[in-house]
Amino acid sequence: MTYLDYQATTPVAPEVVTAMQPWIEEKFANPHSPSRWGHEAAAAVEVARKQVDKAIGLKGGSVAFTGSATEALNWALKGTVEKRHKGRNRIITVATEHAAVLDSCEWLADQGIDLTVLPVDREGRLDLDLLERELDNQVLLVAVMMVNNEIGVRQPLTAISDIAHGAGAIVLSDAVQALGRVELCNGPDLVAVSAHKIHGPKGIGALWMRKGKEPAPLIHGGGQEQGLRSGTLSPALCVGFGAAAKLADERCTRDYDHVQRLWKAAIHALGPGWIVNGSVDHRYPGNLNIRREGVDSARLIADLRDIAFSLGSACASGSGRPSHVLRAIGLDYREARSSIRLGFGRYTTQQELVEACQRLAKAALEQEKLDA
Ligand code: PLP
Repeated sequence: MTYLDYQATTPVAPEVVTAMQPWIEEKFANPHSPSRWGHEAAAAVEVARKQVDKAIGLKGGSVAFTGSATEALNWALKGTVEKRHKGRNRIITVATEHAAVLDSCEWLADQGIDLTVLPVDREGRLDLDLLERELDNQVLLVAVMMVNNEIGVRQPLTAISDIAHGAGAIVLSDAVQALGRVELCNGPDLVAVSAHKIHGPKGIGALWMRKGKEPAPLIHGGGQEQGLRSGTLSPALCVGFGAAAKLADERCTRDYDHVQRLWKAAIHALGPGWIVNGSVDHRYPGNLNIRREGVDSARLIADLRDIAFSLGSACASGSGRPSHVLRAIGLDYREARSSIRLGFGRYTTQQELVEACQRLAKAALEQEKLDA
């Protein structure tokens, strides 16, 4: 099995497994209880929080753990709306955002929020002049992701934040695909991240919040996480997230250089006829979203069951709907249907990637012959 779906999730790092093990096997204390064991668990959670904070690398804020990045994004959006001052009733976001942002925004629009979803260009990039023209003193929040999960395209979050802050808006960024892969942009006030995209465990995410911009709680109860996100934390998951964040922080440049080499090797192995979806220059190179005239990507997946890769997006896979991101960059239905996403990273070897790409290219050519 060759795993080429690093945007959907990443293999858990061995160091993460080792760090988590005692917190699964022996150390079961509640980190919020006053016993000695409770204090030990709480201390481990705080070490993990610092590790996640350091990997995020932004100053002037704090990290709250959540159950996922989806929860962090829901919380950021809904909790900011709840705390808004009169007069600011508008959210601006972008057509290529993850469903966790787009669907939450749609839900808020049903509750009376004025929602603007900006288009992107054919490269998948937001036009900053358009953003500037759209901003007014009614805008409460601007939500733009750092690295797109489907096409890997990067948005200039520092410039976006400067423009949005100029109009008095709060900036939320989904940095799920950016953390550990590229240096996070300074500027956003709220940043959502997820452990399982950085070789950590599933079931834990975090929201980084600039001081003074913390959203109102979404989940009420025992008052954990500064009274902002109730619920008993799992020390095992926090420790796992912390260990993954520490590794990501230490290895960010090395991992990036590795995926850059892999990108070049993959393009070479695929051969001619493939077109990269989205910007090549403003992109995280561990995401290779490509299309080829006449290819049926669903058939390709069925033909190559021992290679794990994706249609445009893991989330849209199986839904039968063409990806909203591919449509947003102007692909028609046929082009979207002929697109696949290869995602690789830290544990992908050049040899397995090259072999997989050669087999993909061969299977695509066979489809062409059969359909001719
Ligand atoms: N945002 C992006 C860009 C993602 O890729 C994902 C996961 O697919 C999410 C948000 C949701 O993350 P989680 O799985 O932690 O809810």
